[in-house]
Amino acid sequence: MTLVMKFGGTSVGSAEAMRQTADIIEQFKKEWGSTVVIASAMGSKPVKVTDLLLNGSKAALAGDMDEVTQLLPKLRTIHFDAIEELIPAGDKQTALKEEIDQYLTYFHNICQAISFLREISPRASDAIGGMGEQMSIRILAAYMSERGTPTEAIDATELIVTDDNFTNATPLIDETNAQTMARLKPLIEQGITPIVTGFIGATTDGITTTLGRGGSDYSAAIIGRAIEAAEVWIWTDVDGVMSTDPRIVPDAQTIPELTYLEVSELAFYGAQVLHPRTMRPVMQLGIPLRIKNTFNPDSPGTVIVKERELKAGNIRAVTGIRELSMISVEGRGMLGVHGVAARAFKSVAESEASVLLISQSSSEQSICFVVQQKNSADVVQRLETEFADEIKVRNIDCIAANENVAILTVVGSGMQGVPGVSGRFLGALGDSSISVMAIAQGSSECSISVVVAEDQVSAGIQAIHKMILEQ
Ligand code: ADP
Ligand code: ASP
Ligand code: MG
Repeated sequence: MTLVMKFGGTSVGSAEAMRQTADIIEQFKKEWGSTVVIASAMGSKPVKVTDLLLNGSKAALAGDMDEVTQLLPKLRTIHFDAIEELIPAGDKQTALKEEIDQYLTYFHNICQAISFLREISPRASDAIGGMGEQMSIRILAAYMSERGTPTEAIDATELIVTDDNFTNATPLIDETNAQTMARLKPLIEQGITPIVTGFIGATTDGITTTLGRGGSDYSAAIIGRAIEAAEVWIWTDVDGVMSTDPRIVPDAQTIPELTYLEVSELAFYGAQVLHPRTMRPVMQLGIPLRIKNTFNPDSPGTVIVKERELKAGNIRAVTGIRELSMISVEGRGMLGVHGVAARAFKSVAESEASVLLISQSSSEQSICFVVQQKNSADVVQRLETEFADEIKVRNIDCIAANENVAILTVVGSGMQGVPGVSGRFLGALGDSSISVMAIAQGSSECSISVVVAEDQVSAGIQAIHKMILEQ
């Protein structure tokens, strides 16, 4: 039986963390027979290698090569410090350092090209962004081999075949399954532990893509599905999925069991602990997913399953997503205008913004929806063009963006069909003087979301979390 384990940035963020990670890999390899490891770029909070690399590319775009030059020793030190602590001085250490230096030279060269052209293509951004994983897995694999555990460092460009939607690519399932099986199975049979880069894949032409920020969780699920793993475990720096973000509410509690659906909603609405697309591949084969803490491995963590016993009316968790903008299309004459919603969303689709929440008043006098702030101006402009005629004759009075909003979402399958849950939820927000600008309930009835002012979202999360603890 093969267990797929993914280790996040902090789990490989330093030599000490890598030692802990290696202990875990060896322990579970023994217990399960075989393991496949996926690792993120090094990320001792708050400094994440991926952020440094991408910041470098942005500095290059602005023509600031000095910034890139200053980043190089920083990146070098992060990796070299770990190498020097984990691998004894000698040929192996020197070879590994040379490999890291090659990546850093490559990073510098791409940045130079960006700075020269003053243009960054999504594929250049992916080539740079994925380098953090390429460096970290080589260190972890070399260290584990040093400890006597046979490993092989593998770039997921050899396994995960994706479309060419650079920076947010989607895997082509059949090609990925075939390629992953062909490459990993012989290693597993020989008792070798593959140590694979999270976050990246490649197009059918072999060009590196990435799966979106935080995408290493998704990589683990994709590889888990491809090799029909017994389970997929995500190792991070908290004791599992919690009732809310522990950075906002320090007494957040670990949730022992959640359904795929619940955790999908939580991830979609901002719980950073899992990439929102992680659930799909494992759901398809019913592979259980666990979230565990590298720094507290004895804690059971959270297990994510297809179904669980429900306690009626229970809200399990609350989450928030910031930096959003609520766009509204309003007008008394809208009632008579043909296909307003269809035309509005066609315009949004053309802008490539994704809509996080939609709410329409029953009299059809307004439609509002929420997009990321960065897409707001473009969406409004497209809507004004689309509805220019209606605006002229005043069937539509205004197309407006309310910037600086956030979505606050409560999740729990037990809410299904139970009257009064939304009343309690809105009441708790009202008691804290938080005003709700729009509300929407997921069709699965396992989540309710509201739009609030961004500066009120933390207070809202705290108020709802108090209610969760008291229910
Ligand atoms: P990794 O590098 O291991 O992938 P991330 O930083 O991406 O780690 O995700 C883990 C972090 O997610 C935690 O440290 C925690 O601060 C944050 N987080 C936000 N919401 C939740 C939640 N509901 N449950 C657990 N962690 C959460
Ligand atoms: N290193 C990538 C990121 O920071 C992927 C991940 O950590 O999951 O986005
Ligand atoms: Mg993550």
